[in-house]
Amino acid sequence: MQGHSTLILCDVCSRPVPDQASKEVLYQVDKVRYRLELCPSCLGSEMKRHDGFRGVPGFRKRAAIVIRLNSPEELPRALPIA
Ligand SMILES: [Zn+2]
Repeated sequence: MQGHSTLILCDVCSRPVPDQASKEVLYQVDKVRYRLELCPSCLGSEMKRHDGFRGVPGFRKRAAIVIRLNSPEELPRALPIA
């Protein structure tokens, strides 16, 4: 894989960002967690939109953050209609 670089598509705005710049965010609604990867600019606005978050080990990254939501409607992207 040398010479290749991996870009991550932000789960909120779909912009490509380098893997090192993306951040895993787990949105917790009751006992369910939604895992998204965010670009730095979406992460910044999510940090502003929610005042509480905590750090946890990530699934794919070493660290992730957990943000609690009251309902899945507060996710920063539209959910597919079930
Ligand atoms: Zn984004």
